[in-house]
Amino acid sequence: MSTTLDNHRLARLHERISGPVLTPQDPRYDEARAVHNGLIDRRPALIVRARSTDDVHDALTLAREAGLEVSVRGGGHNVAGRAVTDGGVMIDLAEMTAVAVDPERAIATAQGGLRWAELNEATGVHGLAVTGGAVSSTGIAGLTLGGGLGWLMAKYGLAADNLEAVELVTAAGEILHVDPTAYPDLFWALRGGGGNFGVATAFTYRLHRLQTVTGGLIAHPIDAAPELLRFYRDAVADAPDDLTVFAGFRRRPTRRGHPRRLRSRLPTGPQDQTPLRPRQRLPPQPQHHPIGPARPGPTAEVRASSPIVSRAENALTLAPCPRFPSATSQTECIPS
Ligand SMILES: Cc1cc2nc3c(=O)[nH]c(=O)nc-3n(C[C@H](O)[C@H](O)[C@H](O)COP(=O)(O)OP(=O)(O)OC[C@H]3O[C@@H](n4cnc5c(N)ncnc54)[C@H](O)[C@@H]3O)c2cc1C
Repeated sequence: MSTTLDNHRLARLHERISGPVLTPQDPRYDEARAVHNGLIDRRPALIVRARSTDDVHDALTLAREAGLEVSVRGGGHNVAGRAVTDGGVMIDLAEMTAVAVDPERAIATAQGGLRWAELNEATGVHGLAVTGGAVSSTGIAGLTLGGGLGWLMAKYGLAADNLEAVELVTAAGEILHVDPTAYPDLFWALRGGGGNFGVATAFTYRLHRLQTVTGGLIAHPIDAAPELLRFYRDAVADAPDDLTVFAGFRRRPTRRGHPRRLRSRLPTGPQDQTPLRPRQRLPPQPQHHPIGPARPGPTAEVRASSPIVSRAENALTLAPCPRFPSATSQTECIPS
């Protein structure tokens, strides 16, 4: 097998493919090879911006015939930069962002270039949601293929647990509809095995009815870390499935000069339930705590009241959080 990308092959690909095919000479090349991690600086021989499953198939065929390595870019958020190959063919799905929601059957099928914010919006208008990334700019593809942790996972499982089917283009060029019946082993591998089983061009998810969740971010000074982490340990030990909580450390200078903050998140849970038991009080004096109900979808908003906080009997002054786009992907509201 040769390992060259000769002009003849390139011309043939240009003829067949509907999306842009970018070589290093193209002015769009540098933007297309950039990923979330700015330290990644790899130079594919070719970037194929696929617009269809057939484009993906043709790009894979070219790479196979030319003996070139292939990388696949979903949302480009993998920190190691695995979406970008050095010297090979990068198949970029950024233009494959179609999504179809069937509210009756509560399923959604989305193309592999979609990001969680877009999927959340599409399902949210029907009062439906699925576990997605905690940060909604991540791609649905890489996140789902890797398992997929998110705000709704305690109740509904990982993103991959909600997968019903995947449209997959294999390295050999087959286009498969992979589901538990047709290809059980492959389906099993796709639900958490990461990439490398082919290019996933579309994902079908099982959705859940969800009108409102209560959630947000609470930031504490670093000195509160020991107390807060003890609280966190006790609170999650027997927490109900309606509650998903992450705790973490974050460096974020503010105008007031606090160099580090400890953050905790207390999201998810139907509005009329109290996810925290009375003995599980929030530690005192959080520096920022915009917790409130939010509806999934583009019109999500937070009201300055919270059943979690008020029933936890903490005297908190709640602030509305304008940057709170959706229930499954809450944006931080620490003032900078
Ligand atoms: C800011 C940030 C927040 C994050 N938050 C979360 C979180 O809340 N929960 C969580 O579980 N993870 C989280 N992650 C990790 C994230 O899930 C992974 O980095 C994931 O790979 C991102 O998916 P992507 O499509 O954006 O990645 P990409 O970088 O595009 O791809 C990642 C890997 O998946 C492969 N791949 C991508 N698309 C396809 C496809 N269509 N077919 C086959 N293979 C494909 C790529 O080849 C590559 O190996 C986060 C990462 C970042 C940077």
